[in-house]
Amino acid sequence: MNVAQSEALFDRAKRVTPGGVNSPVRAFRGVGGTPRFILRGEGSHFFDVDNNEYIDYIGSWGPLLFGHRPKAVLDAITAVLELGTSFGAPTGREVELAQLIIDAVPSIEMVRLVNSGTEACMSAIRLARGFTGRDLTVKFDGCYHGHVDSLLVKAGSGVATLSLPDSVGVPKAFSDTTIALPLNDLDVVESIFKQRGNQIASVIVEPVVGNMGCIPPAPGFLEGLRRITEQYGALLIFDEVMTGFRLARGGAQQMFHIKPDLTTLGKIIGGGLPIAAYGGRADVMSKVAPSGPVYQAGTLSGNPLAVSAGIAMLRHIEDHPETYDILEQRTAALTANPPAGMIVNRVGSMATFFFQAGPVRNADDARRSDTSMFAKFFHHLLERNVYFPPSQYEALFVSAAHSAADIDHTVQAIRDFSIQ
Ligand SMILES: *Cc1c(COP(=O)(O)O)cnc(C)c1O
Repeated sequence: MNVAQSEALFDRAKRVTPGGVNSPVRAFRGVGGTPRFILRGEGSHFFDVDNNEYIDYIGSWGPLLFGHRPKAVLDAITAVLELGTSFGAPTGREVELAQLIIDAVPSIEMVRLVNSGTEACMSAIRLARGFTGRDLTVKFDGCYHGHVDSLLVKAGSGVATLSLPDSVGVPKAFSDTTIALPLNDLDVVESIFKQRGNQIASVIVEPVVGNMGCIPPAPGFLEGLRRITEQYGALLIFDEVMTGFRLARGGAQQMFHIKPDLTTLGKIIGGGLPIAAYGGRADVMSKVAPSGPVYQAGTLSGNPLAVSAGIAMLRHIEDHPETYDILEQRTAALTANPPAGMIVNRVGSMATFFFQAGPVRNADDARRSDTSMFAKFFHHLLERNVYFPPSQYEALFVSAAHSAADIDHTVQAIRDFSIQ
């Protein structure tokens, strides 16, 4: 495969940007080789600058539920361009997007729009501290909630891919406000609450983990978190930046029938443009400025282009409830028969092929995977025009644009690897 243009761009990029990329996992450090510089996308495929075509299983790391350039989203963006790109004053569209989110996500009564998932999670844990008057946050090993100072403790995603310890540059005083526990172990949660329950403001969790590879919640785990947080007066925060509108229109909380106090959203709600949100109980959200004392703001928050793309996306989801059945079928077909030496974790259209015997129930399990075999697997697929996430510790995403032919091609490429 000719990747001369990508190589040339990567050389230049490394001189002007740390590691040549604007977000670490894009650099292929987990698998080696040259990251492809992408020129354009169409449906379930994208094309690099050397004109190689790939079936895209990254989907911009989650947002592209309908693949690249869905017409509804393009039309919405084009229409709003005529009106202006930013006003720094409220618009009717923001009310509309808020209403669409509230109508879809069971626990959200009020919502605030921000620009990234990082901001949403940072704001949600601040709000939880302000609401409860407590300082501590419980998170889980391998969950990623953006690069928030106090949440870069035992974080997943790029932090796991690069095998970094907790990030340099985070003051100890910040990381001391975070208690990181193993996922799917309620006994540990129970005992930490017995010791320090009156200091814990919130428990934040990816209800289905995507950032340590895909790891589903153990039966009863989320229910247990709901019960324990309620008992001790702490808030339960579901980080649904990845799972929101992906696992179901109402996210993981709809799938598992659990109402968190606060929810963070991102990715899909921007339709491929930068937007995120946090929302939840009205009595909690009312503490956010200017209606309450917890400060949070944003110059470009509620940006017209991003909000319009988000509205188009959420309306399209509302109009196509069959989407989730299609995603389920396609992804089930993709992951049905993992070759020997791998196991698959899958929930809906999120999945990870782990190079190990399994089961993978938490971050320690995930870390037992053979990452050098994964790297070979990744490049084997890439050579066959299948673009998986370039890390063992990320989930792949299937979109409604992925055709049966895309899936067949991918299944065949996966099968070819095992018989090498
Ligand atoms: C992607 C992600 C984030 C961070 O969102 P950004 O927009 O990259 O800041 C937070 N939480 C989860 C679960 C995510 O998947």
